[in-house]
Amino acid sequence: MKAQVDTNICVACGCCTKVCRRNAIHIYKGVHAFVDVEKCTGCGLCQRECPASIITLVEGSALSNEKKVV
Ligand code: SF4
Ligand code: SF4
Repeated sequence: MKAQVDTNICVACGCCTKVCRRNAIHIYKGVHAFVDVEKCTGCGLCQRECPASIITLVEGSALSNEKKVV
């Protein structure tokens, strides 16, 4: 499983990034969180920490391409 962020709703609060022991979730350009799926182990710590409940755990093959705001 991998963490996936709803980047349309994420407010970039950073709560998720503080708890990840794999340093696999980051704030992209101060806009939203994104997950480095190569590092993510699907532990779910970030999911429990997100105050907006917008992180889901999905099968790696079901990951939608993360939308990065440029
Ligand atoms: S599921 Fe675990 S390893 Fe993956 S980004 Fe969240 S806290 Fe990090
Ligand atoms: S904790 Fe939730 S709202 Fe905050 S940056 Fe992470 S995904 Fe976005």
